[in-house]
Amino acid sequence: MSLHRNDTNINELRNYFTSVIDWIDSVFIHIESEMQGLPWGEYYELYHNIPYNREEVAQKQQELYADPYVKSRKGIFEYILGGCQLPRLLEVRCFDDATKKSVYARQTEEARTNSVSNCPLCAIGKDNNRTRIYKLSEMDADHVTAWSKSGATDVSNCQMLCQTHNRAKGNK
Ligand SMILES: [Zn+2]
Repeated sequence: MSLHRNDTNINELRNYFTSVIDWIDSVFIHIESEMQGLPWGEYYELYHNIPYNREEVAQKQQELYADPYVKSRKGIFEYILGGCQLPRLLEVRCFDDATKKSVYARQTEEARTNSVSNCPLCAIGKDNNRTRIYKLSEMDADHVTAWSKSGATDVSNCQMLCQTHNRAKGNK
């Protein structure tokens, strides 16, 4: 009797695993080593009722694998399953110090020439900070076009903002 019940349980378990594996197969064309050890059972519970276009998923997956700013490849799968809404899953890289310093130097030189603040948002404001020159340590790097909207993490997409404005902008 108990032996028979075990059989049933094992069959149910086997069916469940088969469902999860079939589902992974129906969503992802490219199977990658980073997929090992991820909580696929959880992903299945959360996402298996959502329809995915396999071709689109494969294309997005390839883009993200080729993106040098994506630090966490293990995060790519949940990021895609969740509709690409949570960039924090990818641990996108920040601007490095060399980039920040060179952007700071360029902005500050231009600001001095034009007698405006080296924070481009302060420069178009109306208060006393309009002409304030901030130190490098008083500024933070900002993605001009947010990474989540395809903005790159390189010098062409970096601007230095004063900390107040960078916090106000708040998107990475
Ligand atoms: Zn500012």
